[in-house]
Amino acid sequence: MNAFFHIDEAYALDAADPLGSFRAAFHLPVWEGNEVIYLTGNSLGLQPKGVGAAIDQELTDWKNLGVEGHFHAKKPWMPYHEFLADSLARLSGAHPHEVVAMGSLTANLHFALASFYQPTAARPAILCEAKAFPSDRYALVSQLQFHGYTEADLIEVAGTGVDGVPTDEDILTAIATHGDRVATLLIGGVNYFTGRVYDMARITKAAHKKGILVGWDLAHAMGNVPLSLHDWGVDFAAWCSYKYLNAGPGGTAGLFVHERHHAADLPRLAGWWGHNKKTRFLMGPDFDPIQSAEAWQVSNAPVLSMAAQRASLDIFDQVDLAAHRQKGLDLTRRCMDMLEAVAQELDEPIRLITPKEDPSRGCQVSVQFEQRDRTFFDALLAQGVVADWREPGTIRMAFIPLYSRYSDLARLEQALRKTLAIPAA
Ligand SMILES: *Cc1c(COP(=O)(O)O)cnc(C)c1O
Repeated sequence: MNAFFHIDEAYALDAADPLGSFRAAFHLPVWEGNEVIYLTGNSLGLQPKGVGAAIDQELTDWKNLGVEGHFHAKKPWMPYHEFLADSLARLSGAHPHEVVAMGSLTANLHFALASFYQPTAARPAILCEAKAFPSDRYALVSQLQFHGYTEADLIEVAGTGVDGVPTDEDILTAIATHGDRVATLLIGGVNYFTGRVYDMARITKAAHKKGILVGWDLAHAMGNVPLSLHDWGVDFAAWCSYKYLNAGPGGTAGLFVHERHHAADLPRLAGWWGHNKKTRFLMGPDFDPIQSAEAWQVSNAPVLSMAAQRASLDIFDQVDLAAHRQKGLDLTRRCMDMLEAVAQELDEPIRLITPKEDPSRGCQVSVQFEQRDRTFFDALLAQGVVADWREPGTIRMAFIPLYSRYSDLARLEQALRKTLAIPAA
């Protein structure tokens, strides 16, 4: 059988790849003497080689300076989160004062909702997508309950397609239908299961017209797809940093709050790190919020974790984001074409659940092998393919423009052909 995507063509594309050199900035896991085909950068991004030195620097400063490191470390710990703001602003399409590295994703959603979910009898509801990431749903239901409402006021927009995940149109229709009783919309900007990218600009605009506050969970969007949170007028957004941002397990998350809310007298769950920097250490009793997204911080910066993130952002800072986007689209398009060709040749039904249209797709391809169970996935794993398995029969694969290669895709095809040649159980 001829390969659909020939390894020599793949090597040629790798050689011409303008982002090809970034792969050397990452540690690649090795499996049986070869670098694995790493397709789970949407779950845990690989370790940038600069992380060790970045954390060592903080350990050294801590060892040598003790508490003085807050002011005299090479990168002083007191304002440490500020060292991440410019890079995060660039990736999210925000002004630096609209973003802050802090906390964890689900916690940040709660902190944001404390301010941006203020239900009234006429507008009690939260609108989200059906099949949202479980943590988001738990958070939203608990927010409803916290305010004395119930799950009945969670409007989960279902999709009309087989995967059950709504399209832009499904969401826009739901906004038109239910919008008048919705206080807040919170949706994953890129769906974790199908990889669908939402038209965040259009949905935000439509929701605002209905008087809804709009938040986006960018767990699968930051470091993946182009974002313009400021210009889109998004009210708030939150993301984690261990997926496409490669900041390490449990890495410090992030929060965006649009500048039009910075001076507003919003309810919030406050802490000392959100207090006016000039007077924070006077230790006064009254909270005086910083006029920026930093006001939502509660605690001082987790420096060791942020040092890892800084090392990762050092890489992103050098990346042409348009080329990054192009490569992600190209790899995923080729992957989907390859999957369809292989399925047809081997007469094996597959279902691509990632949208084919470029604007609705990021770096992820999700495919359902209708006749296969986990033994199929394990057989792939045994050939060095590190991907993600979800029932029913679904493999999620992310092609990370910073370190995925065209030759990984060609090797994936070889592994798939070998595995699919084994009859289904
Ligand atoms: C990964 C992910 C999470 C994980 O939440 P943590 O608080 O970081 O553990 C939550 N929501 C979505 C949509 C995710 O993709």
